[in-house]
Amino acid sequence: MARTLRLVLGDQLSRGLTALDGAQPGEADVILMAEVAEEATHVPSSRVRIALFLSAMRHFAADLVAGGLMGGGPMGGGPMGEGLTVDYVALDDAGNSGSLAGELTRAIARHGARRVVMTEAGDWRVEQALIRAAAAAGVDLDIRPDTRFLCSRNDFRDWARGRRQLRMEHFYRMMRRRTGLLMADDGDSPAGARWNFDAENRKPFDARAAGGRPPAPAGFPPDEVTRAVIRLVDARFGAHVGDTAGFDWPVTRAQALTALEDFITRRLERFGDYQDAMAAGEEVLFHARISPALNLGLLEPLEVCRRAEAAWAEGRAPLAAVEGFIRQILGWREYVRGIYWLEMPGYAATNALDARRPLPWMYWSGETDMACMAAALGQTLRTGYAHHIQRLMVMGNFALLTGARPEEVAAWYLAVYADAVDWVELPNVQGMALHADGGRMASKPYAAGAGYISRMSDHCRGCRYDPKRPTGDGACPFNALYWDFLIRNRRRLDGNPRLALAYRSLDRMAPARVAALERQAADFLAHLDRHGSDRGFGRPTDAPTDATGDLFA
Ligand code: FAD
Ligand code: SF4
Repeated sequence: MARTLRLVLGDQLSRGLTALDGAQPGEADVILMAEVAEEATHVPSSRVRIALFLSAMRHFAADLVAGGLMGGGPMGGGPMGEGLTVDYVALDDAGNSGSLAGELTRAIARHGARRVVMTEAGDWRVEQALIRAAAAAGVDLDIRPDTRFLCSRNDFRDWARGRRQLRMEHFYRMMRRRTGLLMADDGDSPAGARWNFDAENRKPFDARAAGGRPPAPAGFPPDEVTRAVIRLVDARFGAHVGDTAGFDWPVTRAQALTALEDFITRRLERFGDYQDAMAAGEEVLFHARISPALNLGLLEPLEVCRRAEAAWAEGRAPLAAVEGFIRQILGWREYVRGIYWLEMPGYAATNALDARRPLPWMYWSGETDMACMAAALGQTLRTGYAHHIQRLMVMGNFALLTGARPEEVAAWYLAVYADAVDWVELPNVQGMALHADGGRMASKPYAAGAGYISRMSDHCRGCRYDPKRPTGDGACPFNALYWDFLIRNRRRLDGNPRLALAYRSLDRMAPARVAALERQAADFLAHLDRHGSDRGFGRPTDAPTDATGDLFA
């Protein structure tokens, strides 16, 4: 009979996981891994995301069980390289309870466990459910810190204590000093005498200036394990979005390291220049495309940052690009995790702008005439990937301006991305995209009209809307929506110094112009409510479409 169960969750696929520290060979310790339907359906996860998680879990378990074969049913008794035992519950195993708490309860009984060891979960909901399940079973639960992150939950809490505003830049500098990444010899000042190279990292993409199209990222065609998972996922979750036919994500640590190396050698050099750019037909540009591997635990953040730093030290990438990249991981990634654990569970319910409209159905169907939205939604729904600016300044911006309910927006982001895990998705939605936290994270809402998208992309050239027109037929919806957003939220945002210029411009407008903008926005929102999409806006048809189904029903 096992005395200790060691739980490894789907985003904890790291050999150095604290839950595995001190595991003994033989039957005294059993490692439990479980595929459960609830994690694929509490929001209707993209089939790409489900396949990625299940395949990576199966590969990880197979690596642990030396020579072990994957198959239906627990892998009980399979010795790991060091003689440890793994109990693997597959999605289609008879008796699978469908939830992590249910599988923990069943495994405690199956193994007669007295103690459960786990590493902090990436989702407040999951951690709470497991705490409750362990308590109900009357076993000791040892929750260990997740040392894969560079800032612990407690350290972030200490850093945040007493600060009125939790600015990422201040956190990032503290983390640079703490890790020594990109620091000058004195250990206190930044390499290159600057903390931040953002000003250099804002170029629109130009293939000629960039020396040609970005190199396509390394892809990993599915092996037999992944193909079996894809068959299972397609059969079981056929109604969910995602195109598994094009699946090419890394699912093992070896593949993840190859993906990282591919980025470091072929795209990092230009990462900074085109970090904020968008271009038709370019889904990745010079981004790393490693967030799923990082979030699953196949790569660790410190090794990724050190690898990028080494590329700079070797003269293979400029400091501005390497700093911009390290800032995303050492800064933003650690910071949003800190915010999540500091603010949960209340953070999920924040709605400071009182946004109440339904998320337009086009987010699920991808059907829109807006070229920038069609590109971002299309690639998201198909591949489970879009880069940051698409997520924030196109799809997030549109959800913000249309006043979509944060809860629905967060559920969408959590469902559609291959890299989605609650701790990173939620603060990016509530704090960055929607300003739902009232400015805890961002000093102003990331609201923008067509000007931004037109400057940073080539989408407007192929769009049926005109980015320069604020009202009338063919006017870009972002324009009237932007002004309407400011008008609607004046009471809440007026005092924000970073919006002072925008409100001054509004105040200089003739009343008739303001009224026209409000009318244009109201007509557009009414059309969106009726049709779930902008399609047909400004054209004579007004009949509701039936494309307003609900995957949550
Ligand atoms: P790169 O641009 O190459 O950046 C390198 C790495 O930095 C990423 O892999 C990621 O680990 C990290 N990073 C960059 N930006 C952020 C950020 N804002 N927050 C946290 N880490 C960051 N990222 C997720 O991993 N999962 C999510 O569910 C997720 N949801 C998001 C929702 C919204 C509304 C927004 C605006 C952003 C979200 N992000 C999320 C952050 C970011 O968009 C992705 O991490 C990034 O696009 C992943 O692509 P990449 O690996 O090519 O990143
Ligand atoms: Fe997007 Fe407007 Fe440009 Fe069309 S015109 S691509 S909707 S910003």
